[in-house]
Amino acid sequence: MVSVFDFHTHTTISDGHADAMEMARRCLKNGYGAYVCSDHVDEGSVGARVPEIVDACRRVAQELGITAVPAVEVTRVPPERVAKVAAKARSLGALLVVVHGETLGDFPQPGLNLAAASCADVDILGHPGLITRQAAEQARSNGIHLEISAAGLHGLTNGHVVKIALDVGASLVLDSDAHRPESLLTSERAQQVLEGSGLTMEAVARVAAEAPPSIFARRGIQLPVLAQES
Ligand SMILES: [Zn+2]
Ligand SMILES: [Zn+2]
Repeated sequence: MVSVFDFHTHTTISDGHADAMEMARRCLKNGYGAYVCSDHVDEGSVGARVPEIVDACRRVAQELGITAVPAVEVTRVPPERVAKVAAKARSLGALLVVVHGETLGDFPQPGLNLAAASCADVDILGHPGLITRQAAEQARSNGIHLEISAAGLHGLTNGHVVKIALDVGASLVLDSDAHRPESLLTSERAQQVLEGSGLTMEAVARVAAEAPPSIFARRGIQLPVLAQES
């Protein structure tokens, strides 16, 4: 069975249906190695939401003793302003940055994948839809992971994302994009979605084992990260 990690989850801080404590409790139960809270932010909400995410993670770490990592999903920001919002989120305490990519489950903004893949503050290009080879190559050169999504319509292009990532040598990561506890990953579910996206068993094991330490190490995040004093 593969280990379970997840860099893309939502809470009531944005449009999730459960608070961070409830989500983190389920993560613990499902065997997650850490809890990452990556609520939606845009230009208008980044200033207020990142401090809330940081606070929620601090409380989770104190109460549950699980590593809780404050992150964001930069969502529906025009390509030319993604870098500015990502930098602001980071300056306010977001340790990881996911960008809401050109999913077929949404109205993709052309150029968004490439803008995110070119931005040094970005860690994961979320549900990148029909990502181009150029954007995938850019992600590879910047050490940005391309997301395989376990969430509904976002997962429609998982096969394409895997194919192009393997083609250009970009790194992959599996995320739940959970908006409620029951959508968080289990080891069994993670294995199924990775296999279903067209990866060989060997590649499934490799993605599950390599993505988390490489994403954390890139930002110097040590595991476990316990509650920090405010
Ligand atoms: Zn998204
Ligand atoms: Zn999301």
